[in-house]
Amino acid sequence: MTVPLFLGNTYLFECLAQVIAQEADEKGMYLVLDRTVFYPQGGGQPTDVGTIECNNRVSKVTNVRKDNGEIKHYLAEPCADYFKDMNCLCVLDKDRRILNARYHTAGHLFSTIVENLCPELVAIKAHCFPGEAYVEFHGENACDREALRSNMETAIASDLPISTFEMSGREFEQKFYKLPYPMPAHDQFRAVQISGYKPIPCGGTHLASTKEIVSCEIGKIKNKNGNLRISFTVI
Ligand SMILES: [Zn+2]
Repeated sequence: MTVPLFLGNTYLFECLAQVIAQEADEKGMYLVLDRTVFYPQGGGQPTDVGTIECNNRVSKVTNVRKDNGEIKHYLAEPCADYFKDMNCLCVLDKDRRILNARYHTAGHLFSTIVENLCPELVAIKAHCFPGEAYVEFHGENACDREALRSNMETAIASDLPISTFEMSGREFEQKFYKLPYPMPAHDQFRAVQISGYKPIPCGGTHLASTKEIVSCEIGKIKNKNGNLRISFTVI
């Protein structure tokens, strides 16, 4: 079981770890570590990339995935060295981590603001890959672009704090609201909360403040099959 250090600190860009497995599958050769700073692609957020240095060899990591609870760090090229049980240094591509966190956090802020402006819209999906990001809502109400733009701008400028916490599904629903999807009643899960807005279960990497989003441009707003999709770009 890999300790997911990325859950505790978005700004931790390096860590020492031990290689607990080196295997290959259809995606290539991968390492499993006892702890990692690498975020595995999922939840609408792209993979972290970077390097793993082990036994004086630096390997590029181009893809990280979670598979059956295992976090697999795929190497750009297969290597003949065998790293199992060795210590290694993980180093993230810091710019990409921060860009991903800006997009991901902007997705949360969009959801929060749209749900506040138009309570009949409910956020159901976020895809926060740079260049193709959008948030999708259930409901066809056309959200006012100018109101959305000015609320986003104000929220970013207001430097709103963003925090994460863990609690059980039961505790969460007692304290906040009934989730629209089932959550284990007793298992702990992680939630993110922007200032005093309603918290949302999420395992992604978040900024510490809305100010770090810097600026966000709203793209297409379109209705499709009873859902409203709002595209955006972080600039
Ligand atoms: Zn999140």
